[in-house]
Amino acid sequence: MNEGIITACYILASILFILSLGGLSDQEKARRGNLYGVIGMILAVGATLFAASVGNYSLIIVMMIIGSIIGALLAARVKMTAMPELVAMLHSFVGLAAVLVGFATFLDTSHPLTGADQTIHDVEIFLGILIGAVTFTGSVVAFGKLSGKIGGRPLTLPGRHILNLLILFACIYLGYNFVQTGSLTALAIMTVLALVFGIHMVAAIGGADMPVVISMLNSYSGWAAAATGFMLSNDLLIVTGALVGSSGAILSIIMCRAMNRKFVSVILGGFGTKKSTSSAGNSEDQGEAVAITSSETADLLKNSTSLVIVPGYGMAVAQAQQSVAGMSQKLRDQGIDVRFAIHPVAGRMPGHMNVLLAEAKLPYDIVLEMDEINDDFPETDVVMVIGANDIVNPSAEDEPDSPIAGMPVLQVWNAQHVIVLKRSMATGYAGVENPLFFKDNTRMLFGDAKASIDDVVSGL
Ligand code: NDP
Repeated sequence: MNEGIITACYILASILFILSLGGLSDQEKARRGNLYGVIGMILAVGATLFAASVGNYSLIIVMMIIGSIIGALLAARVKMTAMPELVAMLHSFVGLAAVLVGFATFLDTSHPLTGADQTIHDVEIFLGILIGAVTFTGSVVAFGKLSGKIGGRPLTLPGRHILNLLILFACIYLGYNFVQTGSLTALAIMTVLALVFGIHMVAAIGGADMPVVISMLNSYSGWAAAATGFMLSNDLLIVTGALVGSSGAILSIIMCRAMNRKFVSVILGGFGTKKSTSSAGNSEDQGEAVAITSSETADLLKNSTSLVIVPGYGMAVAQAQQSVAGMSQKLRDQGIDVRFAIHPVAGRMPGHMNVLLAEAKLPYDIVLEMDEINDDFPETDVVMVIGANDIVNPSAEDEPDSPIAGMPVLQVWNAQHVIVLKRSMATGYAGVENPLFFKDNTRMLFGDAKASIDDVVSGL
């Protein structure tokens, strides 16, 4: 294909990717945003296949078929609750691809370079492999933590900051050595160090800070793709990687703000290591949690004028979103003011609750962000906390030693009545006891969230 046509396709694909990102930032335009992304990607892959440098079509077609089958099977089978793990795994593939492309480019001697061109090329290879290796192992550990295969507690090796610094200095030295001598050994040692650093970096981050890590790895995977684009001299890959890298970085900052953390502190790890020391952290000192039945809950709702629903990860586990939407419609039909309060890190991935509620076709205007609704709880009759825990934990405000101290939370306890739907007294993702369950105005509706909501609806 003519180079000019390929460039035109690349520019069009870049525009579609930008429109896609724009669309994904708004629930109402998210579907259209996704469509732009799909068209952009088809255009990008199609144009690349016709580039002069691409040959061996039979191998490419076989690999595309295998990849498409694996991708389609994974996408069809994955449960909504396992999406974050899948995303972490996909980030790891981008990292691994960058490492493999880096080594392949280094070992490919068919396009000899000299002088400054060679130096620039070596720097591209070194950085591409470095970022790719960190992304690869970091994402594998994130996958393990999110899927529960690895415990959520942060690994805090003695002298871990010194270890990180030593790895950094060693990589700088190896980079210098590699550019000077083109030594494969220097490249290989750096790769091993970067792989170790990726494991150590994510292992050191506590459960409650995982949202930041996910968006950070998202950003790294973008930079790894951009580095691969430099190695392969593919402009579109550079642009796309930079888009993912920078949007991931912005998301990390938003997540840090949502959790009241400093980005550097999260990256250095160790949050979530402190144990709760005050009485609020010990369930035995807090008295008894009081249970409520679904028919009592239905009576309470019938007699209220305002309800705020706070969904959390448990709503995703129970797949209760349709039942919740049905209940809210029924109550709205009875003249009750129903609204939803969404915490920025509710669930297990950014926007998790918004996706579920959009799937259940809830009107967007009753779904509010934390900042929009937090001041309204004192005037609210009933709050229903559906499978949420950490995001409504008052110890984030009251206990300076809590692993979630400082994280802004939904102040549901200020409402007149709080009903918490969950199966047991178990802690949430951060592993912190929740004093909300023991407050005088809180009642526990035990059971699977979907079954509980269905029971409440039949009592309405
Ligand atoms: P939590 O993980 O704090 O709590 C979820 C609660 O849901 C549990 O206490 C569990 O209690 C309950 N639950 C589970 N299954 C069911 C079910 N079938 N029916 C009813 N209840 C159920 O979730 P939150 O949404 O409150 O907080 C999110 C946490 O995840 C935060 O700590 C956040 O930092 C972290 N995180 C968020 C990410 C993001 O990007 N949003 C990414 C990674 C981590 P029980 O077992 O008793 O039922």
